[in-house]
Amino acid sequence: MPAAILEIDLDAIAANWRLLCARHPSGPVAAVVKADAYGLGAAAVAPRLFREGCRHFFTAHVEEALAIRDLVPGAMLAVLNGLLPEAASDCVAQGLVPVLGSRAEIAAWRDEAARCGRALPAILHVDTGMNRLGLSHGDVPALAAEPGVLAGIDVLYVMTHLVAAECPADPANARQRRRFARACAALPPAPRSIANSSGIFLGPEFGSDLARPGAALYGVNPTPGSANPMRLPVSLRARILQVHDVSPGEGVGYNATWTAARPSRIGTVAVGYADGYLRALSGVAQAGFDGRPVPLVGRVSMDLATFDLTDHPAAGPGDWLDLIGPLATPDDLAARAGTNGYEILTSLGRRYHRRYRSR
Ligand SMILES: *Cc1c(COP(=O)(O)O)cnc(C)c1O
Repeated sequence: MPAAILEIDLDAIAANWRLLCARHPSGPVAAVVKADAYGLGAAAVAPRLFREGCRHFFTAHVEEALAIRDLVPGAMLAVLNGLLPEAASDCVAQGLVPVLGSRAEIAAWRDEAARCGRALPAILHVDTGMNRLGLSHGDVPALAAEPGVLAGIDVLYVMTHLVAAECPADPANARQRRRFARACAALPPAPRSIANSSGIFLGPEFGSDLARPGAALYGVNPTPGSANPMRLPVSLRARILQVHDVSPGEGVGYNATWTAARPSRIGTVAVGYADGYLRALSGVAQAGFDGRPVPLVGRVSMDLATFDLTDHPAAGPGDWLDLIGPLATPDDLAARAGTNGYEILTSLGRRYHRRYRSR
């Protein structure tokens, strides 16, 4: 029996995808499966969503797309980070769709199409405020004025990415929508793609021909400040290895950052920061035992973490604590560690025994 089990409920991810589809009636909903499906395992998540009817997938890297190409036969599989020149032939051979975000990338793909003697699919990325990837403000009119610049490129979508979709009151949202509409009007007509997870919840003006959620599929709340409409597909359980009786005044863990104020029972589990259970959670996280909260005490170490079981006399060696679950969601842990749910998920380590649940 392993010391820590990471269980991923693929049916919950599928249910989340269906909910997002219902919230995005203007067009289909893709699945962003970059970073190994936010740490949950793209090789399991992508085929499950494919079976559910999802036909559009996004990764960040070509290598990530190649790893799941055969698992989603015939589906659009697009690479968000753009086109490195040496990747063009792999993209053609495997039917990957590069997301082109500069005039140089467009030129490289056009040349590749000429070499192949046929049109090649691509997505054009327009930067409307992120200033990270995508055609900038000045590129779009220049592009539109250049004849033949898209020759041989089959533009499946023109897309943009929202800077602050999780903050509905942020004026960046409306500004980006206006800039995107202007850019699309200057470019040859093509379907559009706008919303990430939170964008889907911004209302129908942010609907498009293809939504691109990632985090919400994996249970991160796309509407911070309101109840989470998504199901949590992740649970992490760890067994109590040992229980130590600690006298008042005794410290626990490195540098004794926690000291017992009463006779205490400290349970140690085999999960640490090397497993992505962040050191920043030291002294601030909680787990669950039998549906009740258990505080983490002291420093999280590389391979171990310690919990105060004093109020849980029934808990002993061999029993399980819920490190990620309803009492400690990725969003809760993130708030305590000063990060976001995305980072909690993508940090999940490789040492856990992984189980996938699927009907
Ligand atoms: C990561 C990413 C997404 C998905 O964003 P979520 O907030 O996880 O839904 C969509 N589009 C682009 C361009 C991205 O980089």
